[in-house]
Amino acid sequence: AASADASGEAKSKSRRKKAGADDPDAEELGKSGKAKKKKSDKIEAGEKVKSKKKKKALEVSVGMMEAVAEDGEAAGQVAVAEGREAGEEEDERTSALAKLAALLGSSPKAAELDAALKAAVAAGAEDAELAEAKARLKELKARDKARERLRQAVNDRDVERLRETLAKAEQVGVSSKSVAEAKKVLAEEEPRHEARGKLRQARDAGDVEQLRAAVAEARRVALDGGELAEFEDLLAGAESKEKAEAMLQSAEEALNVADLKFAIKQAKSAGVDPERVKRAKAVLKVEEPKHKARELLTAACEAGTADALKEALQAAEAANIQGEQLFKDAKKQLKREEKRQAKLAAVLGALKEVASVDTTDIDATREAKDRLSTAIQDAIASGVAEADLAEAETRRKRLHNAIEDLKGSIRVFCRVRPLSSKEKEDGDTQVARPTGGLTLEVDDGGDYAFDAVYAPGTQEEVFEDCRDLVQSAVDGYNVTMFAYGQTGAGKTFTMYGVPGAEGTAPRTIGELFRVIQRGRARFSYTVMASMLELYRNDLVDLLSKGNPTASKSKLNVKLDKSGGVVVDNLTEEEVKDAEELSALLERGTAQRSVAATAMNSESSRSHLVLMITVVSVNCETKERLKGKILICDLAGSERLKKSQVSDDMQKEAIEINKSLTALGDVIEALTQKQKTVPYRNHKLTQLMQDSLGGTAKTLMFVNCSPASSNADETINSLKYAQRAKNITNAVQKSA
Ligand code: ADP
Ligand code: MG
Repeated sequence: AASADASGEAKSKSRRKKAGADDPDAEELGKSGKAKKKKSDKIEAGEKVKSKKKKKALEVSVGMMEAVAEDGEAAGQVAVAEGREAGEEEDERTSALAKLAALLGSSPKAAELDAALKAAVAAGAEDAELAEAKARLKELKARDKARERLRQAVNDRDVERLRETLAKAEQVGVSSKSVAEAKKVLAEEEPRHEARGKLRQARDAGDVEQLRAAVAEARRVALDGGELAEFEDLLAGAESKEKAEAMLQSAEEALNVADLKFAIKQAKSAGVDPERVKRAKAVLKVEEPKHKARELLTAACEAGTADALKEALQAAEAANIQGEQLFKDAKKQLKREEKRQAKLAAVLGALKEVASVDTTDIDATREAKDRLSTAIQDAIASGVAEADLAEAETRRKRLHNAIEDLKGSIRVFCRVRPLSSKEKEDGDTQVARPTGGLTLEVDDGGDYAFDAVYAPGTQEEVFEDCRDLVQSAVDGYNVTMFAYGQTGAGKTFTMYGVPGAEGTAPRTIGELFRVIQRGRARFSYTVMASMLELYRNDLVDLLSKGNPTASKSKLNVKLDKSGGVVVDNLTEEEVKDAEELSALLERGTAQRSVAATAMNSESSRSHLVLMITVVSVNCETKERLKGKILICDLAGSERLKKSQVSDDMQKEAIEINKSLTALGDVIEALTQKQKTVPYRNHKLTQLMQDSLGGTAKTLMFVNCSPASSNADETINSLKYAQRAKNITNAVQKSA
C-alpha cells in the first residue's frame, strides 16, 4: 500500500507540475512533448509573419484615416477645395471597404476586424455595407470567448466546466487543436472526478467497505495525495474500529478474559459504539470469576496438595464451572491425593505398630515385615513419593535383616545325597539318615543338628531357603553361599546342579533378576560378575580372555577403604539380564576345565568362586546401595592316605587342608565374636573377607555321602560343620 501511495503521489506530482503552469502556450501544448512544441513554434513564427503583413496594412489604413480627419478640419477653413474633397471622401470609403473586404477574405482576428470596421464607419460606409463584417466580428468574439473559457477549464482541470466549454467551443468552431487538448485533459480527469465522487459518497454513507474500494480506486487513478489524505485517514480510523470490533467479537466467542479486557480497552479508544462495548463488559463480568476459578484450579493441580485442591474446587463451584473438564480433573486429583495421604498414613501407622515388635521373635518379626512391606507397596502403587517412605523402607530392611539374623548370620544346611547305583552294587549301605527336620543321625557316629537337613530334598526346596538372601543382597548386604564336603558328596550338584535340576547358582541368577524387575520402576540397577578359581595358593581369572594361568600372579587380593574385597586385574563384566549372567557362568565353567587340564589337576581339587555385585540407585532419592553374592564350590575336604599319593598330590592336599582349616577358624572366630578374625591366614578367607562376618549373611552347605564306605569322611564333615553350628547356636542363645 505504501509503494502504491508513493507512486500515486509521484504521478499526481508530475501531473500537478504540468497543470500548474500558467503559461497558456504551455497549456495549449499540454503534454505533447518537445517535438510538438517545436512544431508549434514554427506555426507561431508563420503566424507572426502573417500578422506583420496585416499590421502594415492596418497602419496604412490608420494613416489614411488620420489624413481624412486632418482634411476634415481643413475643410471647415478652406472651402474652395470642397469639390476635390468630396471626391477624396468617396475614395476613402471605397478604400476602407476594400480593405475590410480583403480582411474578411483572410482569416482576421477580432481586433483587426473591429479596427477595420471602425475605419470603414469613419470613412462613411453604410450600415448595409458593413453587415457582413459586423456579423463576422460577432462570430470571432464568441469564438475567442469560448476558447478563453475552454483554456481556463483546461487550466483548472475542472471536469464540469470542461464538458460545458467543450460543447460550446465545438459549436463556435474553436480550433480543433484546443478542443483535442481539452478532450485529452477531460479524459484524464473524468476517472478522477468519478473517484472523487465515490469517495464522497462512501464517506457520506459511512460504509467502510465502500470507502476502502473508493480509496483503492482513487489511488489507482492517481488522485492527488492531498485530496486522498482526508479519505485515507477516515479509512484508517474506520478500519481500526472495525478491527477493535472484530477483536471484541472473537474474545467474546472464545470467552478469553485477558483478550476481552484488552479488546474492551481497544474498542473504547477506537471509538466503537458504546453499546457494543457495554455488551462485551457484561460478558467479561460473567467470565472473570470463572477465569479466576480456573486459574486457581490449575495452580492447585500443579501444587497437588489436598488443601489447595479443596479451596480451588470450592471457588470453582461458586463460579459455577463444575461441568468443565478442569473441575473434574481437579476433583479426581483430590481423590487421588486423599487416597495417597491415606496410604501414607497407613504406612506410618504400620511403622508405629512395628516399632514395638519383639525382634527376637522370628514369627512376630516376619509378620511385622510383611505388614510393612504390603503398606509400602500399596503406598507406592498409589503414588506416594519415595522420599516419604524412606523411613518405612529402612525399617523394612532392618526387619528383613533381623529375620535373617534370627535364622543365624551363619546358617548351616546339611544335605545327604542318595546312594549311587555303584555304591549299591558295591554293597554299600546308608549309614546317615535324618531324624526329624533338623537333625541327622550317623550309624555309630552320633547325632548332628543343623538349620536344615535335606536327604536329599529337591533343588526347589533347597533354594526356597536361600531365596531371601538374594533380597538381602539387593538391599545392599553381602551374602555368601558355599558348599563343604568330600569329593562326590554333592557340592557341585547343590551349587550348580545339572540341566533340568538346576542348583543354587542358576536359581540365584533367576531370583536376582526377578527382584530387580520388581524394583525397576523405583531403582536403576547395575549387575557385575566375576568368576575365579583358587588352586593351591593361586588365583585364576576364569573370565580372562587370554591364557587363564598367565595372569595369576597379578591377581592380588586387597581391601578397599570401605572394607570391600578387591582383586587386582580380575575381569569383571556387567550383565544386563539373567541370560547374560548364565552365559557368563557357562563361559567361566568351560574355562575352568581348560585350566584344570593345563595344571594337570581335577576340578574337585580347587575352589570355584562366583561373585555377583548388585548396585542399586533409588531414582528419586539417589540413595546408592551395593550388595554382593559370593557363591563358592569348595575343593573336596577328604584327607588322602600318605601311601596313596604322589608328592604333588600331597602338596595339593596340604594346601586344601590349610584353606579349609583357615575357613573353619574364621567362622569359629566370627561365631564366638572374637576380637580378631584370622582372615589373613589364607587367600581363600582373604577373598571371602567382606562376605563373612560383619553384616554379611553366610549359608554353608555341608554335603555328605550316605555310604558306609564314606562314613569316616561324612563324620569329619559333619563335625567341621557342627563346630560352626554349635557355636552359632550358643551365640544366638546368649544374644
Ligand atoms: P562333589 O561336587 O561334591 O564332588 P557332585 O555334585 O559332583 O559331588 O556329586 C557326585 C555325584 O552324585 C554326581 O553324579 C551327582 O549327580 C550325584 N548327586 C549329588 N547330589 C545328588 C542329589 N541330591 N540327588 C541325586 N544325585 C546327586
Ligand atoms: Mg564338585
